Amino acid sequence: MAKEERFDVVIIGGGHNGTTTAAYLAKSGLSVCILEERPEGGGAQETVEPLAGVRIQPHAIGNYAGAAPGWDQLELWRYGFRMDYNPRNEVPFDIDRGPMTRDGTVPVSEADQMGWAQAIGLLSDPPCYRDLLRATFWTPPHPSYVELDENTIPYMQVYRDNMPEIWSKEVLEWTMFDLLDQFIESEPFKVHQAYIANVSGAFAHFPGVAVPAIECVATVLPPAIAKPVAARGNMHGYYHALVRCAIAHGAVVRSCCPVEEILIDDGRAIGVRLRDDAAWGVKKIYANKAVISAVHIKPTFQKLIGPKQLDAGFMQRINDLSLKGGSLYMAHFLTKEELRYREPFKWSDEDPHPFSGGFYCMENKEIYYKNLECVLGRQENLDIPPDEAMWGMVASSLYDETQPQCTREGYHINGPLWMMVPTPQYNVDGVLAMDETPADKAKWNEYMRKTLSCVVENLDDDNLVEIISDSPWEQEFRNTGMLGGSWYGTRCDRDEWWNERPLPELSRYRVPDIDGLYLAHQSAAHPGGLCLMAVGYNLMHILIEDGIVEPGDWWYASPWYVPEAGKISAVPGEGRV
Ligand SMILES: Cc1cc2nc3c(=O)[nH]c(=O)nc-3n(C[C@H](O)[C@H](O)[C@H](O)COP(=O)(O)OP(=O)(O)OC[C@H]3O[C@@H](n4cnc5c(N)ncnc54)[C@H](O)[C@@H]3O)c2cc1C
Repeated sequence: MAKEERFDVVIIGGGHNGTTTAAYLAKSGLSVCILEERPEGGGAQETVEPLAGVRIQPHAIGNYAGAAPGWDQLELWRYGFRMDYNPRNEVPFDIDRGPMTRDGTVPVSEADQMGWAQAIGLLSDPPCYRDLLRATFWTPPHPSYVELDENTIPYMQVYRDNMPEIWSKEVLEWTMFDLLDQFIESEPFKVHQAYIANVSGAFAHFPGVAVPAIECVATVLPPAIAKPVAARGNMHGYYHALVRCAIAHGAVVRSCCPVEEILIDDGRAIGVRLRDDAAWGVKKIYANKAVISAVHIKPTFQKLIGPKQLDAGFMQRINDLSLKGGSLYMAHFLTKEELRYREPFKWSDEDPHPFSGGFYCMENKEIYYKNLECVLGRQENLDIPPDEAMWGMVASSLYDETQPQCTREGYHINGPLWMMVPTPQYNVDGVLAMDETPADKAKWNEYMRKTLSCVVENLDDDNLVEIISDSPWEQEFRNTGMLGGSWYGTRCDRDEWWNERPLPELSRYRVPDIDGLYLAHQSAAHPGGLCLMAVGYNLMHILIEDGIVEPGDWWYASPWYVPEAGKISAVPGEGRV
């Protein structure tokens, strides 16, 4: 057995962000090793089969990476990736499937549809929709000395150049509701948009994040995503294309290999040490150029690096990081008959469709604030009547047919239904407040059934076989090492966005005072959550600046990227700036 292994780059964690980063670096010709704790890579991009023939995706379900440069840069189609993508797909706010309220489905007027399209850049000439998404998500934060204002923040530059009617200094202070007020009339439609932003992590009522919040919504709807929600083979299939891409370019992936320590010598990250029970015999794996932590920021600093290597004040700031803005309770409903809408929620008779879920109780801002007051304010278990609880649901009819959710004869599975609930760490009744005992879990499952029954007529005992659910505790702690809790895994307000994320001195993915160490997990890096290939792309700019990687002709930098003085520009041909 070899006593020592060496790679150019060692990546800790084989979730979406570690794998994307590995694919970029391996394609650039570096030798790369991914070390993953679990038997299977993909992190929160996973599919599980709790009963034979019943498949669920407990975390990522939708492919929102439509605008990612990674599609052409990594050429995922060569590695088995297929997506039924039609950019002319309608945005699904048609007459039938608008937001749902206690009285039924509310149509979205044509004026409101056009207002929404205008706000996200679909109607400018030429449309700047993709640029707006790329400026928001696929651009690394600027160097710290660049003053951030309406002329330098990338998405403001896109507005200024393409939609001067929206661009003004005030937008920087707006909430998403302020922005929606300019373009949209219907209150339920505004609340619907706000709810999607909230479960994505960028709160619609927080000042200063109007654009990131509306862009969170733009990422999740056509034309940014395929219809149905995910790619062929679904989200774990997308992970497989990424990992195949990395491997095809020479990356080595080792599963069952938990990293216990990042080796640091004289202020430089030189490799990692695996836990003693890791499946790989060689326990020290060295990195010639860089170590990249693609695991949660807190264990990265608290355990893998450890206080011995860190300034006590900095360590305290890591300990104090409040990363969570609410968690999600995810429920899937296994039934004998397909679910049916109640009368006021049915598709029209002329255009019948199967059950497709939707967004409920999007009635008005009072209900919106009532939900948020409980989840974010009091941080208590839900005490809202089930008919006022807000949720979204993706039904099996929206999944790609190449990987149907249910192949068990005589059964149907629909979900997830996801609902915002307090972050377990902050729940005033403790981390296990929703599922300390089986009775607790049964109670919340029953709550989910009651709230879905506001919209669905046949969730009776004869039809319902089982509710398969993930409490926030299960989502965040049962899967060792995988911490999510919201789409973005963070509280996306102004002090957790872009150049502030996760702390201003870490926002360009480097770790100060430890050379050769970089961060790539959703909790540690802009733009964080969602399987967007964004962290890997953004981090590439910084690794090029530091002379770690020199990609080939296929590489292009973000047009809004600002190189750091004295470093090698990530824009091909610019050299040192
Ligand atoms: C409920 C929920 C729904 C979501 N829905 C969507 C969606 O619809 N679409 C979408 O795009 N995104 C969605 N997301 C977000 C998306 O899943 C995450 O943003 C993404 O998976 C984060 O990837 P990551 O690589 O940063 O982290 P993770 O997925 O957390 O991966 C980290 C990996 O590191 C491993 N690891 C941890 N510690 C160690 C160690 N010491 N040594 C070695 N390995 C280690 C873990 O096992 C894991 O595989 C959702 C998230 C949640 C929680």
